[in-house]
Amino acid sequence: MAALHNHSSLRQSSHPLLFVLQKSNTRQDEPRLGRLSLLNRVPMDTPHYVAASSRGAVPHLSQDMMRENTNIRAMYTALEDFIEKASHQDQTPPIFNFPAAPHESPLRKFIALQKSALLILGPRRIPPLPCPASSTDSAISIVTSLGFGMLEYTDYVEAIQKLRPDIVLGIGDVLFGHKPGVKRIDKMGDRTLAWVKELVDGMKDEENGMPRPALFAPILPIEAERQSYYLDALQDELVDSVDGLVLYDTASIDAIPKTLWHLPRLSLGEMNSPHKLLDAIARGIDIFTIPFITETTDAGIALGFSFPATKAPDVDTPLPLGVDMWAPTHAKCLSPLRSDCLCYTCTNHHQAFIQHLLNAKEMLGWVLLQLHNHHIVDNFFAGVRQSIQNGSFEDERTSFEKTYTVELPEKTGQGPRVRGYQYKSEKSEQRKNPPAYRSLDDRKEKLVEAAVLSPSADANDFEQQGFAEKAE
Ligand SMILES: [Zn+2]
Repeated sequence: MAALHNHSSLRQSSHPLLFVLQKSNTRQDEPRLGRLSLLNRVPMDTPHYVAASSRGAVPHLSQDMMRENTNIRAMYTALEDFIEKASHQDQTPPIFNFPAAPHESPLRKFIALQKSALLILGPRRIPPLPCPASSTDSAISIVTSLGFGMLEYTDYVEAIQKLRPDIVLGIGDVLFGHKPGVKRIDKMGDRTLAWVKELVDGMKDEENGMPRPALFAPILPIEAERQSYYLDALQDELVDSVDGLVLYDTASIDAIPKTLWHLPRLSLGEMNSPHKLLDAIARGIDIFTIPFITETTDAGIALGFSFPATKAPDVDTPLPLGVDMWAPTHAKCLSPLRSDCLCYTCTNHHQAFIQHLLNAKEMLGWVLLQLHNHHIVDNFFAGVRQSIQNGSFEDERTSFEKTYTVELPEKTGQGPRVRGYQYKSEKSEQRKNPPAYRSLDDRKEKLVEAAVLSPSADANDFEQQGFAEKAE
């Protein structure tokens, strides 16, 4: 790591969050190595990822499991996950009343996040669900667990002051799910600037010996000319207050002014495969949120790629990026998910057990897959960093693209139950996971019908009456 500091382009910041690049960019877009550090947190070497949480927890993982069996260095949380009761006039969301010492973050305590991990707070979940309402000049639409609502930017500032995360994301006036019209684009820069300024003003002072949270400002997913007024302000009056940048789209790298190239770049963009990650790393993104880790876990898929690829590419039969553990072929397999994997799951359990757990809809199945999938992604990023260090990233990236299939495997099995705020409902879509138990009234009718079956009725007759499922 000595080399990291020799060529450092040390950033002068009023904030204790430090981002050191191994060498300054010579081009706008090129892969880069960096280290993000903050007092009392384990430094994060970049490129790396940030674990995306749902209501303050990485899905399927308890806090002790996350601490002991993953290398998660930073966690992203969304304010919309915690303010579901704010719509009622007289109720304060519980998180704002959570007891914490003056020097502690009530949010970190509320979700029991380990001290060593960076805590990031943004307004929306990742990936965000589209909202029917549009933003206004003073608020964005959000989805809470109780339904749609509006988040006033003044309330966001107040929440940040109370919750004290390590890093806070500025609110960008960004549409999710559809493209903005011309009129809207004109407003996006102005609104975002006003909201970022409000956040800077609201966080100015050190409180109770705690420094203000570091601020990552949005770069909007529109052309640089359309947000030039905002970008000028970032370089000028806001330059001492902005500690990093948030991108919704890798292409937005083109819009980053040269004077801000040294800032860490966090992507909230749609990264649905390792290939997309490699493209974005090649263009100079440092930190990622990756929804596909939990999505593959929910689908019962064990990720199975490594960077650099360990096998020579075979164009005719590219390797899959993961294995569907629902496939019956695993039922008698006593090998780990991957023979070269050293994760908790692979060192303790075999494929047949994982498949049994999925079939039994036992939660432990998804827990073990989630541990393995995070481990695969941890190793992927470690490989990427080593490869950039060695100067072989471009060649190894080309080779990786030829070695593996483009898409993650299809989802075949049924995942764990999901709630409304976790997925987009499509018209005429069947319920995602029908409940295992029906209402008693429904069952009563079935009982009446079943009563007319003759004593000689067999299991099939009962099953047809909806009475019970026949054991195979
Ligand atoms: Zn494993």
